[in-house]
Amino acid sequence: MEERLAKYNFTFKKRYGQNFLTDLNLLRAIVSDAGVNENTVVLEIGAGAGALTRALSERAKKVVAYEIDKSLQPVLSETLSGCENAEVVFRDFSREDLREVEQTLGGEYLVVANLPYYITTPVVMKFVEEGKTCLGLTVMVQEEVARRFCGEAGTSDYGAVTAAIARRGTAKVTRLVSRTLFTPRPNVDSAVVKIDFTSGGFGVRSERAFRETVRCAFLNRRKTLENNLMHAFSLSREEAGELLSALSVPEGARGETLPPAQLGALSDLIFEKKRALFL
Ligand code: SAM
Repeated sequence: MEERLAKYNFTFKKRYGQNFLTDLNLLRAIVSDAGVNENTVVLEIGAGAGALTRALSERAKKVVAYEIDKSLQPVLSETLSGCENAEVVFRDFSREDLREVEQTLGGEYLVVANLPYYITTPVVMKFVEEGKTCLGLTVMVQEEVARRFCGEAGTSDYGAVTAAIARRGTAKVTRLVSRTLFTPRPNVDSAVVKIDFTSGGFGVRSERAFRETVRCAFLNRRKTLENNLMHAFSLSREEAGELLSALSVPEGARGETLPPAQLGALSDLIFEKKRALFL
C-alpha cells in the first residue's frame, strides 16, 4: 500500500485523521466481528487507501464508502479494481443528511469503519439518534473512546454517550488494536467496538425527554441528581424527590449512578409530568 500511495504522490493529512490499516488479518477480523455476509449492505466512512473497503467487498453484497479526500481517488480506483460491488462517494460524511443516505442505501445496512478520530463521537451519535434502517456499527476508535461507549454506570467511563448508545442496543469491545498496526502510527492504541441495534436497547415515551434527562443527569457531576432535575425541568425539591423515590433511587444519588434503563424510566416520568416541555 505504501508503494501505491507513493506512486500517486499521496501525503497523509493529519486534519482528516488519516491513519491507515494494512494488516490483512486484522482487516478480515474486523469484517468478521461486524458479521458481514453475502446479504449485507455496508456503509463505510473514510475509505482511505481502500484496504478495509476491499476486505468488506470480498464478503458483502454491496459496500458504499465515503471519503472526504479527493486526492485518494487514483489510489482507491487501483485498490478497488475488480471490486464491482464497491462504490466510493467523495463527500464529507458529517455534512450528509442521514435520511437521504439511508434512502440511497435502500434498506437495512451495517456501518463498518476505521473512523477518523476527530469526528468519531458525532458520527456514532448520528446513527444512534437518527438511524432508521441501520442494524449497527462496528468501528475502530481510540481505546479511551471505546471504553466510554461501553462504560458501566457509576464508573468514570460512563456518560451521556454511553446511555444514548445503550438505549439503542448493546455495545462491546471486540478487540484491542496496537498503534503499531497503523500507518502513520498514532499516539494512542485503538479498539474495535461493535454496537448492535438488534439486541438489547429499550423504548422510551419520548426520545426528546430521554435526551434531555440524560443531559441533565450528567450536567453537573458534582451535584445530586435531585438538584440537577430541579434546575433542568423547573421542579420543586419535593417533586424531584418524588420522581426519584418512585424509581427507588437513593436520596443524594448522582446521575452517573443510574443505569441507562433507569434513566429511560426517569425520562418517562418526567415526560408524564412536564409533557408541555417536550412538545
Ligand atoms: N479505512 C481506511 C483504513 O482503515 O485504512 C482509512 C481510515 S482513516 C482512520 C480515516 C479516513 O477517513 C481517512 O481516509 C480520511 O481522509 C477520511 N475522512 C476524514 N474525515 C472524513 C469525513 N468527514 N467524511 C468522509 N471521510 C472522512
